[in-house]
Amino acid sequence: MSNDCLFCKIISSKISANIVQETENSLAFHDINPQAPIHILIIPKIHIPSCNDLNKNNIHYLSDMALMAGKISEAENITKFGYRWVINTGNNGGQTVDHIHLHLLGGRNMAWPPG
Ligand code: AMP
Ligand code: ZN
Repeated sequence: MSNDCLFCKIISSKISANIVQETENSLAFHDINPQAPIHILIIPKIHIPSCNDLNKNNIHYLSDMALMAGKISEAENITKFGYRWVINTGNNGGQTVDHIHLHLLGGRNMAWPPG
């Protein structure tokens, strides 16, 4: 865990969040500034800064996050209509919080290419 990481503080309940689901390895909560009717962030419960820091020892956290995103999509009834997963990485990717997170976006039509 990182002391100055916003999402680590949400994991340790130092900062509150609107939690959607929690397992041993993953946590999902509503994005504070939603960009779609459904905008949920899914994070690993260890501090992995970005996609650049994934490796064979921690990659199981990403599959846990993906499985949680699938369960949430079913619970939110968006599997039939479609949705989008986004993991912004680094400056060019638009990453603003340096704790890897999967955006689950749904409930509206998504544009392509992304901005
Ligand atoms: P990114 O720009 O991909 O790093 O995404 C960071 C996301 O975290 C943004 O969509 C923010 O709206 C969201 N965010 C920032 N602070 C909080 C918070 N305290 N609770 C929930 N979501 C947050
Ligand atoms: Zn962190």
